[in-house]
Amino acid sequence: MKYSSFQLIKRIFRNARQFWPRLLVLFLLSLLATPIALLKPYALKLMIDSGFGSKPVPDFIRVFFPDSFDFTFSAIILIAAALVIIIALIENLYGFVSWLMETFVGEKMVLYFRAMLFDHIQRLSLAYHDRKGSADSLYRIQWDTMCIRSLLVEQLSPLLSSFITLLSMIVVMFMINPGFAIISLCIIPPLFVLTRLSATRLRKDWYKVKEAESAAMTVLHEVLNSLRVVKSFGREESEGERFFKSSDHAVKGQIKMARIGAFFSFLIGMLIAAGTALFFYIGALHVQSGKMTLGELTLVLAYLAMVFGPLQSISKNLNEVQSSLVSIDRVFAVLDEEKEVEEHPQAERLPPVKGHFEFKNVGFSYQQDKPTLQDISFMIQAGDRVGIMGTTGAGKSTLISLLNRFYDPSAGMISIDGVDIKNYKLADYRDQFSIVLQEPVLFSTSIGENISYGRPGATDKEIIEAAKAANAHDFIMKTANGYDTPVGERGMQLSGGERQRISLARAFIKNAPVLILDEPTGSLDIKTEAQIMEAMERLMKGRTTFMITHRLDTLEACNIILHLEQGRLMEIVRDHDADFLKEKKITLLKGT
Ligand code: ADP
Repeated sequence: MKYSSFQLIKRIFRNARQFWPRLLVLFLLSLLATPIALLKPYALKLMIDSGFGSKPVPDFIRVFFPDSFDFTFSAIILIAAALVIIIALIENLYGFVSWLMETFVGEKMVLYFRAMLFDHIQRLSLAYHDRKGSADSLYRIQWDTMCIRSLLVEQLSPLLSSFITLLSMIVVMFMINPGFAIISLCIIPPLFVLTRLSATRLRKDWYKVKEAESAAMTVLHEVLNSLRVVKSFGREESEGERFFKSSDHAVKGQIKMARIGAFFSFLIGMLIAAGTALFFYIGALHVQSGKMTLGELTLVLAYLAMVFGPLQSISKNLNEVQSSLVSIDRVFAVLDEEKEVEEHPQAERLPPVKGHFEFKNVGFSYQQDKPTLQDISFMIQAGDRVGIMGTTGAGKSTLISLLNRFYDPSAGMISIDGVDIKNYKLADYRDQFSIVLQEPVLFSTSIGENISYGRPGATDKEIIEAAKAANAHDFIMKTANGYDTPVGERGMQLSGGERQRISLARAFIKNAPVLILDEPTGSLDIKTEAQIMEAMERLMKGRTTFMITHRLDTLEACNIILHLEQGRLMEIVRDHDADFLKEKKITLLKGT
């Protein structure tokens, strides 16, 4: 447990500064609940005391009537009946307003924290996402943030009003009988110890339950994202079992928490009962010895119930409060994660680059003591086409990730036009690259918007030009709504080749000086590949290009070939001849 409950609550309040006035209104509203509840039996009291009984009608009702008004029995009963309606009206109006306010403030606050978390999570390093997985982030953004509403709106506010009731009742008790007030205070230390114990215990286990719930969500997320594979291998049933098992683990955790919570609630209930029993006993002795009247004892016992009532409701809330605090801690844990690879405090704007890169003794490892890349050194000129080859796991993608500054090297230095890339602003630096991946990533909007993702604000004309350059225009025009046709989630309504052409068009429209192609034709058939290659040739013109590929004909288009094996640069070949590639093919095949 990194933070205590109090520290966490303090931090939420600090972060939710803009909601303070609205939270105050909510709190004041919650204070009204008790007096409104006290109004309820008033109509009955009026009917009994003044209707059937002989008590005069109270003044605050009289003021609404002329002095000459005759409060007959039937008039009083009518007034009592009207009071039922008026009190119900007040009560329901109060309920309506506080419900609306709770929803309004609560939802706004959740949205605020969700947006903050989403913004932050997007900027976290890839290393974080590799470690945690996307379902964990989803759970934190979607579910953990919801607890901010429950904590501030549904739990803390009643807790605070219970606390205020408690304090005021203790003061009232002091005025009636200080001795009894002191006895009632004796219950507080053991209660405090129990509360602390339960908080520690509950909190520790709530972390595990939330982890288990997020793990169950991982299964769901993974399966829904890979339905094609699940279906084709006929694994629906076993995936169902996997989901059930991991969800069941979470459910068992929830039940365990309910058990622990109920146990502590039971202990607190018994402590309160013991306190009340003590009062009964001492009070009865006092009455017997004449130190106190029976009326006084009745009054003190009634007040005692009002002191212990809030204590009991505080104890009942403990479990939920701890659950919410754990969620909030999980939200803050993400917000505390360092953003991205670190940007140098004096990072400079990047002037227009030529695209001259140098790797100087670069080393990198994902895990300690297990180097992924070692001692990589090479230099390339602007406009070079660099083919990166090597068996699977050689470190090709890692090299590209370093080039993109998704990670920083653990040794050595990468420079662009002679300057360490760390000296430049990250966003500026990344802006120099266009990327085309083996599996193109499309978003569930229209074709046109997917292309202009490369340059927001691009005109229709520019989008069409880019699509033409990428050999995509013709197929786009054949779709139902042309550039406005939606592509479906992750572009699933298009073929692999079509998706790839859209991602090429995106690279065209971005018009960045450096191009990264990560096996762009890896998953395409020969005919589609030829069309894509033609567009890609156009795209590479005048740009420094890095291309990972296994295909010899694609490598032929490169003037420099870097051959990586087991994280080391085996050789650099400039302006190779055809025999070189033939030979390479043979060694690569042997290697795999
Ligand atoms: P290639 O692109 O040549 O197939 P990679 O660069 O993807 O190779 O991987 C190089 C090595 O690093 C492999 O052993 C792989 O298992 C490991 N690796 C890749 N990505 C990660 C990661 N995110 N976390 C830990 N290890 C990784």
